[in-house]
Amino acid sequence: MGVQGSGKGTQSQMLASDLDLVHIAVGDIFRWNVQNHTKLGAQVRRIMASGELVDDDLAEGVVKDRLTGHDWNYGFIIDGFPRNERQAEFFLESYDIDSVIYLDLPDSEVRRRVLARRLCEGCGMDYNLIDSSPRVEGQCDACGGKLVQREDDTEEALAVRLREYHAKTNPVLDIFRRKEYVVTVEARQDKIAVQQAIRKALNLPPYRGQPAAVDADAGRSRA
Ligand code: AMP
Repeated sequence: MGVQGSGKGTQSQMLASDLDLVHIAVGDIFRWNVQNHTKLGAQVRRIMASGELVDDDLAEGVVKDRLTGHDWNYGFIIDGFPRNERQAEFFLESYDIDSVIYLDLPDSEVRRRVLARRLCEGCGMDYNLIDSSPRVEGQCDACGGKLVQREDDTEEALAVRLREYHAKTNPVLDIFRRKEYVVTVEARQDKIAVQQAIRKALNLPPYRGQPAAVDADAGRSRA
């Protein structure tokens, strides 16, 4: 868990690829549906662009659908869920949770990071103009696609998302804290330092890097 731009996608991808976990990013699933003009995509597009949370039934449906696949023998890491108390209760009732990683980032840093974020409209690869710029400006390194801003990475939508986060998602942390699931990691450090801190806090083996292709993906996971 963590505020927008705290690195949830990047860090969970790094954990997942190294530890054989299935990575589930609820926002990515919604974005895929929007891009592919599915019925679900049509239901969530406007609300996502505004920065508000989509309906709980839809978010829970996406999680249930994804997890009924049972292709996660070694476990899963989920980012972008739960985002409010109702989702947290559904989650606690439905699955065994080992721990909750909270990436702590001040709001002042969020704006800088989020407004620098770019997404390939072809393959969905994530870039950040601060520390993972593409080799050619405006063009995806992986597929040559055009880099665009996420529809909700605007000043207006970001203000709404931050408000939603503080009002609805932060209280979820308190629920998990009461169950002693939460490890807190300072997210202002570079991505490798954050990953090592997560692993130390969870008594996992240190991150030793990945083969180049996987590492590029990890650094620029789909947010
Ligand atoms: P993210 O990529 O995690 O920043 O999510 C992008 C957008 O997808 C959010 O601003 C919401 O509109 C929607 N979304 C993602 N996860 C959830 C969720 N668990 N509950 C409701 N809406 C969500």
